[in-house]
Amino acid sequence: MSEAKIIDGNAFAAGLRDTLAEHVREIRDYNHVTPGLAVVLVGDDPASQVYVRNKNRRAVEIGMESFEHVLPSDITEQQLLTLIEGLNDDPAVHGILVQLPLPPHISSTKVIEAIHPDKDVDGFHPWNVGKLATGGKGMIPCTPLGCMMLLRDQLGELEGLKAVVLGRSNIVGKPMAQLLLRENCTVTIAHSRTRDVPAECRGADILVAAVGRAEMVRGDWIKPGATVIDVGMNRVTKPDGGRKLVGDVRFDEAVKVAGAITPVPGGVGPMTIAVLLRNTLLAACRQHRLKAPACDEWV
Ligand code: NAP
Repeated sequence: MSEAKIIDGNAFAAGLRDTLAEHVREIRDYNHVTPGLAVVLVGDDPASQVYVRNKNRRAVEIGMESFEHVLPSDITEQQLLTLIEGLNDDPAVHGILVQLPLPPHISSTKVIEAIHPDKDVDGFHPWNVGKLATGGKGMIPCTPLGCMMLLRDQLGELEGLKAVVLGRSNIVGKPMAQLLLRENCTVTIAHSRTRDVPAECRGADILVAAVGRAEMVRGDWIKPGATVIDVGMNRVTKPDGGRKLVGDVRFDEAVKVAGAITPVPGGVGPMTIAVLLRNTLLAACRQHRLKAPACDEWV
């Protein structure tokens, strides 16, 4: 049997960033609007520092303005809320992202709800969650939207396909399921209390794994020819003691069964930042009542 097609998230994300860069140039030249992204990091978690640095670097690369706010981990909740209030009022800032997780003494719910929905480029504010659920025009969370872009590129029409989403987090699983539903898939959400996860997976034409459990999905859980999107990012120790990044899917097994599959790294990961930039451009265009052709799909 032939091996699955490897879905190249790096290449797709690079193409998306090029399109966005062109549009950013246009609105800067013709409308004198420079999309601005504010990224807020609380504390000194090394992984979060890397994410924030990459987000800022990519924003600047495509001609956006980037505002980085690095705050000590002992900042009070009120101080953080006051900063967000200021960013909400700042006309140079079109998108606000607060890097999660936050220290335990700060309520992430309160912080997410403090971000103005129009500037909520992560799509986590309840207003945007409601818009997605009711088919309205809000902001769509970056990782699930990145997965959808790869799926549509790979499969075209998704109507009628059976999709299984493994995981029900607010950040990935639930919005992913909403997006698949919007594309007229028949959607099942499996989670830690699901009775027979492998059996659910075996029925899927599209399998999206977002559980955060290294290589949990085995080859014999996958329907032959299915499209597998692996959202997982798990750091594991190799036999030689070094560290490596693996997904939620056992890639070497899955690649022999699936029709197409995203690798880890190089699959969903690069899409998340590219979609964040797309959401920031969309936010800027909406705030200035400009057309956003580069973002037209998925609005
Ligand atoms: P999360 O909040 O921890 O949610 C994990 C979900 O998986 C939960 O719904 C949980 O079920 C379910 N689950 C856990 N163990 C399970 C099991 N044995 N069987 C079935 N379901 C199980 O994680 P997340 O934030 O959604 O992230 C998921 C993964 O995606 C992580 O590896 C994360 O690093 C990665 N991620 C990657 C990107 C990217 O840009 N590539 C972005 C975000 C996240 P319950 O609800 O029942 O507990």
